[in-house]
Amino acid sequence: MIKGIAASPGIEIGKAYVLREHSITINKKSIAENTVENEINRLIEAIAKSKIQIEKIKERAEREMGRDKAEIFGAHLMVLEDPVFIDEIKSKIRENRITAENAVYIVSQNYIEMFKNMDDEYLKERASDVKDVSERIIKNILGVPIESLADISEKVVVIAKDLTPSDTAQMNKQNVLAFATDMGGRTSHTAIMARSLEIPAVVGLVDITSQAADGDVVIVDGNKGIVYINPDEDKLREYEKLKQDYVKYRQELKQLKNLPGETRDKVRRVELSANIGTPKDVKGALENGAEGVGLYRTEFLYMDRENLPTEEEQFEAYKEVAESMAPRPIIIRTLDIGGDKKLPYLDMPDELNPFLGWRAIRMCLDRPQILKTQLRAILRASHYGNLKIMYPMVSRVEEIKRANAILKEAMQELRAEGIPFDEKLQVGIMVEIPSAAVIADILVKDVDFFSIGTNDLIQYTLAVDRMNEHISNLYEPLHPAVLRLIKNVIDASHKAGKWTGMCGEMAGDVTAVPILLGMGLDEFSMSASSIPQVKKIIRSLSYDEAKQIAEKALSLERTEEIREMVEGVIVRIK
Ligand code: PEP
Ligand code: MG
Repeated sequence: MIKGIAASPGIEIGKAYVLREHSITINKKSIAENTVENEINRLIEAIAKSKIQIEKIKERAEREMGRDKAEIFGAHLMVLEDPVFIDEIKSKIRENRITAENAVYIVSQNYIEMFKNMDDEYLKERASDVKDVSERIIKNILGVPIESLADISEKVVVIAKDLTPSDTAQMNKQNVLAFATDMGGRTSHTAIMARSLEIPAVVGLVDITSQAADGDVVIVDGNKGIVYINPDEDKLREYEKLKQDYVKYRQELKQLKNLPGETRDKVRRVELSANIGTPKDVKGALENGAEGVGLYRTEFLYMDRENLPTEEEQFEAYKEVAESMAPRPIIIRTLDIGGDKKLPYLDMPDELNPFLGWRAIRMCLDRPQILKTQLRAILRASHYGNLKIMYPMVSRVEEIKRANAILKEAMQELRAEGIPFDEKLQVGIMVEIPSAAVIADILVKDVDFFSIGTNDLIQYTLAVDRMNEHISNLYEPLHPAVLRLIKNVIDASHKAGKWTGMCGEMAGDVTAVPILLGMGLDEFSMSASSIPQVKKIIRSLSYDEAKQIAEKALSLERTEEIREMVEGVIVRIK
């Protein structure tokens, strides 16, 4: 048994597919004159092979993700077919008498440097195309296998070091039963993605990639955060049964789908919403009974592509969500890029501490045109449903004022152009930096609502990296400091007659729910698949009970005592 972090619930049993990173060694020695033509032939064959591979990926991407996203592979084909680039590699082999892989490496490095230093954004982007393509050619010359999740053709458990959002975007979802990764924590993006796809996952397993081999039988228990490799018959039988029980339990919870999120005594009603990353996630949100979208992470619109999405493209996506969820509310978060999410086409600095760096609202205020384009698209879409705007990573009041000034400009432009939008649309902020939580009474004057982003709030409050599996035991939502900050935010909003939601993963954490309910949280937004069990807990408690639990939690001094106390409550409910 290998213990990791439970990242996405559910149990699956299947064959392992280990996604390995193969290292490449470039032979830098000079070659004999009579082998030059042989090297040129190796190059030509590798280019032909690369072309067939990229065309196949492009076709699949067009089919599964649309033309836009497939465009990147068109650019890769262009590099591959560029006669200047290819001829230069051939001359290098001939003139310098070096191996084909070394020539590809040297020539591509020159181009990568040249493109990187250009002022033109479009040309700058070409650097990553050259890098991807040249790596592929080199691997093909050396006969090193190139693996991609797009190639999976049977049902497997994917085992990887880590999965980037673009890995998961390329993946053929029908064939992925579960994930198990070396790296990551409960709130890493692999985990969030797995939950939104409703695929069981265990992350932070440290070295599962070296313990498992292709074809091994693997059990992934996403409820407990454990993985078994080649289990014995007894274990397999036990897990077949657990898997069936879990499916039954989920079906029972689904019966609650159309019931409201209200306490047993009907004294308190809260809103239970879903977090989404793309318009496609709306389906899962509705199936799980979401009453709205408490967080639409728009950065996925900006990722896995070659340039910034236009106002029109964004408008289409936001309108689609607005219409398919109407009349339910949708909170659209403005671009939250940086940290672990980089955009290759924006010149983003390499930072020592990216999570404390140039990201989210900070970047948007430095590049106001990016923010304005997005705000215009959201405003235009607001005519077609119930949209709200939310700024991420706010740490001081000036940021809200500056963002709102840009919003005002966007509104004035639209009015002048005669384009309709919701004049009364609410504007709020994410409270995910401790400074914002502490001065919630000041910030509340400039917002309509707060949404607490606990994924980041916990990491910044406790100084515990949310992605670091070595300290994941210290990443503790029920730490008294975190609870006090949350209480402070809710109270400040209520005092001002406004409301507070939560869109961090804590809102879907069963042990936190009774406390949050008792503290007066107004809206809980989470991975759609967590909604039914949160609803069950809320419907099982009276408001007075919840208030007592919250009061008790705030009075206890140690996390363990708090956890023990709420776990006692949860056990009685189940
Ligand atoms: C958060 O920080 O709690 C949050 C919801 O945002 P993200 O996970 O996208 O950083
Ligand atoms: Mg965040």
